[in-house]
Amino acid sequence: MDKKGITWQEISEKLKRFKRADMTYKSGRILGSMCTCPHEIGLKAYYMFLESNLGDSGLFEGTKKLEKEVIEMLGDLLGKKDVCGHIITGGTEANIMAMRAARNSNKVKDPEIIVPKSAHFSFEKAADMLNLRIREAELDDDYRIDIKSVKELISSKTVAVVGIAGTTELGVIDPIEKLSNLCVAKNIYLHVDAAFGGFSIPFLKEKRFPKFDFSLEGVSSITIDPHKMGLAPIPTGCILFRDRSFLKSISTETPYLTEKEQSTIVGTRSGASAAATWALLKYFGRDGYAKIAEGCMEVTEFLAEGIEKSGFKLIRKPELNIVAFKSDKIIIDEIVSQLEDKGWAVSVTAYPKAIRIVVMPHVKMEHVKEFLDDLEEIHSKHVLDGLPQENEKNTYLKLADKTGQGK
Ligand SMILES: *Cc1c(COP(=O)(O)O)cnc(C)c1O
Repeated sequence: MDKKGITWQEISEKLKRFKRADMTYKSGRILGSMCTCPHEIGLKAYYMFLESNLGDSGLFEGTKKLEKEVIEMLGDLLGKKDVCGHIITGGTEANIMAMRAARNSNKVKDPEIIVPKSAHFSFEKAADMLNLRIREAELDDDYRIDIKSVKELISSKTVAVVGIAGTTELGVIDPIEKLSNLCVAKNIYLHVDAAFGGFSIPFLKEKRFPKFDFSLEGVSSITIDPHKMGLAPIPTGCILFRDRSFLKSISTETPYLTEKEQSTIVGTRSGASAAATWALLKYFGRDGYAKIAEGCMEVTEFLAEGIEKSGFKLIRKPELNIVAFKSDKIIIDEIVSQLEDKGWAVSVTAYPKAIRIVVMPHVKMEHVKEFLDDLEEIHSKHVLDGLPQENEKNTYLKLADKTGQGK
């Protein structure tokens, strides 16, 4: 750190240099992220509440009211208006809070949680922090959690079952109703991770998605991320609990603050995130969000069709705005590297190994057309060159490498 300060003029010049090295959503080149350009209405509201701290909410009665209203609106969207919960940093914090509530509400020795193989890695963090053992449920042929496998894993040690409404890798919606019935029968806590799908499934009505929310009596908590399809600025996540007792089970007394107890993991907590979400829910309404979700699905379907036409294979027909594909002829890493050379940032899934594109609102038709042209070029070039072929063996080896890492 220097002894003397410098002017804003100089600072902004320096900052711009850093910024130039960043990719932008606006360019349409970020194809592997679940985040997007935050909407300007959210940014305005965020800016208005920058100094507000929901971790000391007695000082910010107005923001506290805002948060309460956001929780009510999101609860209403997800089938139960009188839920309780908090606006927090993201899906990870939400999932950790949910697992903590499940564990604390059912004290057993050596507690276990059952999560599908497709679960987000935040459950690994939760398990490590909370001393939970993860039991991984198998997936069926369509990459949904296999109910039979869940049944086999349930024991007296099970404190939670997790279902996902919009998996991170493929956008798959697990059969939550079946999980709910099972959990009601066995009296087990069911958490639904709708970090990604929560802001689109309720709006894509014409597709008649199965029930996944609090309208199912077995659902104890839901994660929903406003900073993904909700277009809120980062960091904005949300955890909702069916019952206040769950929140109570994870609360700590807070002696020196204006509030008496706190259930969130972080202490000082941005009120701006709650304000931004409140503003966006009011600004868009159900119709506005439906338009966004449907717009993304239109681009998704166009992209999926184009990928098949260009000679690649879809892993499955997209259910939400995520497309995953591979090639019978070209190794995935080779495709990714060629796409990177052309300026595209895609991501790779672990199970099954595939190229993954998240069609967020910043990914427009014009970007997808350009992308498909590049993809077609890569395909024809490789077919002519006869480059190394993808085969079962090397897919398997790479998958093993990848899954071996975090374990
Ligand atoms: C993104 C995501 C998370 C993690 O959310 P963060 O906001 O990145 O912490 C958890 N679960 C699912 C299903 C997700 O898609």
